[in-house]
Amino acid sequence: MSNTDFVLAVEDLTVSFDGFKAVDKLNMYIDKNELRVVIGPNGAGKTTVLDLICGKTKSTAGSIKFKNRELTKLSEHEIVRAGVGRKFQTPSIYENLSVYQNLEVSYPKGRGVFGSLFFKRSDEVMAQVYKIAKEIMMEDILHTEAALLSHGQKQWLEIGMLLMQEPELLMLDEPVAGMSAKERDQTAELLNRICQNRSVIVIEHDMEFVKKIAHKVTVLHQGKILAEGAMDKVQANEKVIEVYLGH
Ligand code: ADP
Ligand code: MG
Repeated sequence: MSNTDFVLAVEDLTVSFDGFKAVDKLNMYIDKNELRVVIGPNGAGKTTVLDLICGKTKSTAGSIKFKNRELTKLSEHEIVRAGVGRKFQTPSIYENLSVYQNLEVSYPKGRGVFGSLFFKRSDEVMAQVYKIAKEIMMEDILHTEAALLSHGQKQWLEIGMLLMQEPELLMLDEPVAGMSAKERDQTAELLNRICQNRSVIVIEHDMEFVKKIAHKVTVLHQGKILAEGAMDKVQANEKVIEVYLGH
């Protein structure tokens, strides 16, 4: 494929596990500052798509271009450095460190040519910690130990740890699972803010939440796209109702 303006262009992406195609010739295009939600029944291949994009799983065939750069040949670390952040279902924060320290340790190491000038770096890091803490609604609890946070706050902290790297594409797998109604609303607001200067892919089951955040929805079923488009259109799609929403 020739160069495009899409942040992410996935083409004919396929992975088979012992002959079973978990993702089957998938095509998906994500715009700059787009918030895309991926829905679909359990086992549809949603998590596997994120695993392929972040390099955790290697594809069998097809291409993943991030800002026109082929990701399928890169390692997980190279993909992070290229600007792709991914949050897994269970939060991986440091429970015995403070909110501040969790954010601080997530600052990319050796960024920029002045990375060795310690005094400059520490100012930069501090400014970035405050900026992100505000974004994730935790500026007033910077010195709280992470172990004491609510389930929702732990999820936000992990999103903040990813934001410390300023990813241009952020991927979140079921971010509101286990959250209270209020935390879900706050997470919707958070995601609406953070997609203002990056693209975001969210896997989610909670349709009330999806409605609040999705620019477009992709419905996966058996590793393939069943439907794609605006939320109301997808919700009215008979095939989607049959395999997913009707249950
Ligand atoms: P979803 O996130 O939509 O629920 P997954 O992407 O987790 O679905 O899984 C899609 C299918 O691929 C499932 O049948 C799952 O068992 C299978 N699968 C996922 N990862 C692997 C793997 N590493 N090895 C073998 N099978 C896998
Ligand atoms: Mg999954």
